[in-house]
Amino acid sequence: MKSWSTPPRPQLPGTLSSLHLFDSSSGQIQPVELSGRRSLYVCGITPYDATHIGHASTYLAFDLLGRLWRDAGLEVDYVQNVTDVDDPLLERAERDGVDWRELASEQIALFRTDMEALNVLPPSHYVGAVEAIDWIVPAVERLVATGQAYTVDGGDVYFDTVAAGADSTDPEAWYLGQVSRLTEAEMMPLFAERGGDPDRPGKRHPLDPLLWQVERPGEPSWPGASLGAGRPGWHIECTVIARKFLPAPFTVQGGGSDLVFPHHEMGAGHAWALDHRPLATHYAHGGMVAYQGEKMSKSRGNLVFVSRLRAEGVDPMAIRLAILAHHYRSDWSWSDQVLASAEHRLERWRDGLAGAAEGSGAALLGKLRAALSMDLDAPEALAAVDLWAATAQPGQGSPRDAALVSDALESLLGIRLIQH
Ligand SMILES: [Zn+2]
Repeated sequence: MKSWSTPPRPQLPGTLSSLHLFDSSSGQIQPVELSGRRSLYVCGITPYDATHIGHASTYLAFDLLGRLWRDAGLEVDYVQNVTDVDDPLLERAERDGVDWRELASEQIALFRTDMEALNVLPPSHYVGAVEAIDWIVPAVERLVATGQAYTVDGGDVYFDTVAAGADSTDPEAWYLGQVSRLTEAEMMPLFAERGGDPDRPGKRHPLDPLLWQVERPGEPSWPGASLGAGRPGWHIECTVIARKFLPAPFTVQGGGSDLVFPHHEMGAGHAWALDHRPLATHYAHGGMVAYQGEKMSKSRGNLVFVSRLRAEGVDPMAIRLAILAHHYRSDWSWSDQVLASAEHRLERWRDGLAGAAEGSGAALLGKLRAALSMDLDAPEALAAVDLWAATAQPGQGSPRDAALVSDALESLLGIRLIQH
């Protein structure tokens, strides 16, 4: 599937010396090795209601990570999926009386345009669930053959969390709760709320997730070999795509905090069950974005779309700055004031460029690297740029420092001060 384009990237003097990132599976900020090729998988959108500020916030967080790795001179393999067939997409298409494929391709195009406008670096592989079905089928067949998956009445195939989590001889072995650190009692309501079916008759354990759903009348399906025609579950989709394009384990699995359980938990379980290798080394999750203090959701009709803001003439760099003003792990709320203060900030920074003080560029670059390398602390980085802008002396600027600041902001924060 087509990705979006890569913007030119300036080279900066010096380099990043270390990187730390909060890891959900250990509950701690952990060092991330700065050597070798680094690999990142960030779960992509289901193409309806894209791209709202919550989506943008997640992709921006991991965009910062990719930028830091590149700043350290490392090659980055970045994979993102797009769940281009799933219940919510089909339900939306049905409601609106449109073809689900058309809805998906329109929303994917919109997402790409939004990401490009927000200066989010593209993944090296952008893979659709439909494209991945031929790889998913043999993986599910293998799980059935090894007794880690089973078929219920009607033909749907489920992952056996008890069988797959019983491999306790290896310290890296997956068990239910390894990624999310949740107890089963805590998992239950989340599982039901986030697409799981705890009460499905015939399941061996209420938390067992769907791997393959057999064909239903009126719904799209694909050949499933011994599984029968149908379509894949969501968790196995990501595991198989990650295994296809990234090392086992890859460096960082990313997504919003609502993906910790069941999505990333089960994805890690599938990976271990398939080849006894962990899915990822680190699991990182971004916070949730509300709107004026209320949960942002389609049912409330309060989703804030990047495309709508752009159509209203809002500078995409101001949207980017508004998001980066919040730490990626925090839950926060979008409002007109948040956007207005980002617009003022962007203006102050742009004004500051003309009066960049001698030597201020290198000092600011060091502060940006220090802030971002400690769990992607963008608010701290933004505060450092505010201080720099406050020292600008209009009419007496150093062009060399202005160029360095502009390059550093582009390269590390993805903020373009110079308007094209
Ligand atoms: Zn995923």
